[in-house]
Amino acid sequence: MIRIGQAGIPLSCKGRTNKDGIIYTKQALDLNAMEVQFIRGLYVMADEEAQFMKDYSRENDIELHVHAPYYINLAGDDEVDLSFEKILFSAKIANKMGAETVVIHPGYYGESSEKKTMKKIIKNTKKLQSIFKKGKIKTKMGLETMGKQKVFGSLDEIIEVCSNVKAIVPVIDLGHIHARCNGCLKERQGFENIFEKLKPLKLKHYLIHVTGVLYENGNEYYHLPIKKGDMPLAPLVDVILDNNYNVTLISESPLLEHDAVYIRLQVEKGIMKRTGKEEADYRDLSEIL
Ligand SMILES: [Zn+2]
Repeated sequence: MIRIGQAGIPLSCKGRTNKDGIIYTKQALDLNAMEVQFIRGLYVMADEEAQFMKDYSRENDIELHVHAPYYINLAGDDEVDLSFEKILFSAKIANKMGAETVVIHPGYYGESSEKKTMKKIIKNTKKLQSIFKKGKIKTKMGLETMGKQKVFGSLDEIIEVCSNVKAIVPVIDLGHIHARCNGCLKERQGFENIFEKLKPLKLKHYLIHVTGVLYENGNEYYHLPIKKGDMPLAPLVDVILDNNYNVTLISESPLLEHDAVYIRLQVEKGIMKRTGKEEADYRDLSEIL
C-alpha cells in the first residue's frame, strides 16, 4: 500500500486549523495521509478537534501522524525533562486523534562521544516507552533520521536505537539522509541500501519524509521544492513498487501539498509504466503485484 500526504495544513487551504486541513487533504487533494505539526512550541488541540480528526480520518481512510516540537534533546542532561514533557504532550493528543506515530528528533552529541550519546538516547527512549505503556498511549514513537553531522540521527544510529527499544520505529527522512551522506540518493542503489539496512527491524510499514534539500559537506541547509533538489523520485518509486513496500510518503517540501501531488503523479507514472495503461490510481496496486 502507498499512502501520500503532506506535513501540516495544506498551503492552499483557506481554513488554518488541522480540521480544515484534513478535510482539504481528502476533498481537494484526494490524498490519504497527513502529518499534523506540533512544531511551534507547545501547540494545544482541543479534545473536540482531536476527536473530529479521529472520526474523520477513520471514515475517510486517512492515516494520521504527528510531529512533536523540533527542539528536543534526549541526550542533553538539563534538557531531558522538558523534552519528555513536549513528547508526552504531543503523544497524548496524537493518541486522542488515533495517530499512528509521533515523530521525534532524537538530540545532540554536545560534548559527548557518539557512543555516550547513543547510550543516553537509548536509556531515555526506554523510559519514554514505559511511560507510553503506563499511559495507555497506543501511538508509536518514531525517531527521525537527521540531516546535520552534529546532530544525533544518522540512519545507522536510528536503526541501532530502534533495535534496542522495541516500541520505537524509524522515520526515514530522505532529505536528511541525502544531505548527511552528501548526495548519496541519486540512483536506485542509494534507496535500495536504505531498505536493506532497515531489514533487520522487520518493519511492516515505513514512514518516509520526502523533500528536496540544499546541503554542503554532509549538512543540510534548508528544504527545497522536490524538483529544485538533486534527489530524484523515480528510482525511489521503482524500489517501492518493485518490492511492494508498505509506505507512507509525507511531503515536507516548501511546496507542501503541491509536492505531495507531484509524488502522487510520480507513483502513478510508475504504476502506468508497469501496467502499460494510460491511467492509474496510487491506491490501487492490484494490477502490478
Ligand atoms: Zn522532523
